[in-house]
Amino acid sequence: MNQTRHDWTKEEILDIYNKPLMELLYEAATIHRQHHDPNTVQVSTLLSIKTGGCPEDCGYCPQAARYHTNVEGNDLMSVQQVKAQALRAKASGSSRVCMGAAWRNVKDGPEFDQVLEMVRAINKLDMEVCCTLGMVTENQAKRLAEAGLYAYNHNLDTSEEYYTEVISTRGYEDRLQTIENVRKTNVTVCSGGIIGMGESEEDRAGMLVALSTLNPQPESVPINALVAIEGTPMEDQKPVEIWEMIRMVATTRIVMPETQVRLSAGRTEMTREGQALCFFAGANSIFAGDKLLTTPNPDVNEDMEMFKQLGLIPQKPFIKISQPQTVEAADSQFTSLGEKPKWSRPGHTIERNELAKEKGVVSKS
Ligand code: SF4
Repeated sequence: MNQTRHDWTKEEILDIYNKPLMELLYEAATIHRQHHDPNTVQVSTLLSIKTGGCPEDCGYCPQAARYHTNVEGNDLMSVQQVKAQALRAKASGSSRVCMGAAWRNVKDGPEFDQVLEMVRAINKLDMEVCCTLGMVTENQAKRLAEAGLYAYNHNLDTSEEYYTEVISTRGYEDRLQTIENVRKTNVTVCSGGIIGMGESEEDRAGMLVALSTLNPQPESVPINALVAIEGTPMEDQKPVEIWEMIRMVATTRIVMPETQVRLSAGRTEMTREGQALCFFAGANSIFAGDKLLTTPNPDVNEDMEMFKQLGLIPQKPFIKISQPQTVEAADSQFTSLGEKPKWSRPGHTIERNELAKEKGVVSKS
């Protein structure tokens, strides 16, 4: 059986990525079978609990306030609304609810307290709860853990080198710091990236180096294909080819044998055959629900039909790691510190991000 390695180099990963496809598929599928049941797939539902108005400038994201997209902003959802959506997700086969808020970082205060209540409510439904709320401090990660959080998502997005072509309002080290803060708790780490943003194959390998050399490696790695949204700096990027997605999934599986590799954004552009090859290559998780935060996603019934056709079974919750306990707010050991962490603001400019910002202003005037 292949042991997990934490010393992968970019050259080794590139060699894997560029292997003849049949060889790559065979190797990835073999490793997949050694570490996972190849017939089960973990199903997550992604819920946008606070949409739009984000101060960051991520070049792929329609929720960044500075770009001029059709995304309608929404304030933080109520605990009751979230609970109702979680129940619906559970009934349609999801084992995990991932709550996303378009924040640069978590701020202590009533909104964070409300998110903690949402975590408690979903954990009590015996579902895995994941959050993606931007950067978090160690104390905030501990408070999320106490509430019963199962996973925290914070993507590295791409390689450290290419990151400066995508985002100018925070640094790669901020991302790694948040992952490190989450690692100080028993919350599992979900971190992956996006392909199709104009990066090279070296950058794809570089991202996998950054993820696979973390020790422990992330428990889940989402692989997204860019969905180019009008109004964002990446609106003109050409779509990712299915073969690139299959190669990326297979390579991720080989270098991170234990992780759950999640097919994320971009599935609407993929055929069933394409998705089947991704599952064969080691993908064992999907996002379900007709929307991924703000981008389209296949309908749940379509996914269940695909599962039936392929003989795949949705995985039950807490198979790999047992359910965390929920500590009620009144019994918490960790109170809000009201910290003002100094996350970096690199301050360089990215031409295509600047152009997208200006474009909207010009077309509105
Ligand atoms: S990806 Fe997240 S941090 Fe970046 S602009 Fe979008 S919502 Fe904000």
